[in-house]
Amino acid sequence: MLSDGWKPTLFFSNSNIFPQEEADRRYEALLIVAQAYKLPVIRELWDHGPWLEAVSGLEGEKEGGKRCEACFAYNLNEASRKAEELGFEHFCTTLTVSRFKNSKVIFRLGEQFPRFEKLDFKKKGGFDRSLVLSRELGLYRQRYCGCEFSLPSS
Ligand code: SF4
Repeated sequence: MLSDGWKPTLFFSNSNIFPQEEADRRYEALLIVAQAYKLPVIRELWDHGPWLEAVSGLEGEKEGGKRCEACFAYNLNEASRKAEELGFEHFCTTLTVSRFKNSKVIFRLGEQFPRFEKLDFKKKGGFDRSLVLSRELGLYRQRYCGCEFSLPSS
């Protein structure tokens, strides 16, 4: 994004992540990235209850299914609201960097928000690049997607 002339602000909301200690740990990793690239950061309060309501009835869905769509929509809505509140012209999501996340689904959901930019960070080897950068910066690597329904069983 920087080489394409964007001036990003990093927004960390992620009330889907459980427990809160895990959210804090991932946020600390984000701060390392922000410092390395000299980027401003905004953190929203962790508030898991409304997120649980948003995925109610979908708890048993497989990863990548309807619960995840509801989760994407929830977080996109959070980012959209913040962008509007702060007068940002555009927003996008780092969700698209993951090879486990379907960018077409993310774009379909994102289209309902007027400021959404369809940036697919998986493209041009983006996922592999993210692995290299996370190693270089010594970032914490998560062991599960985020919510309690995606926690490893052992
Ligand atoms: S598995 Fe990941 S994307 Fe799916 S609902 Fe849980 S946190 Fe959200």
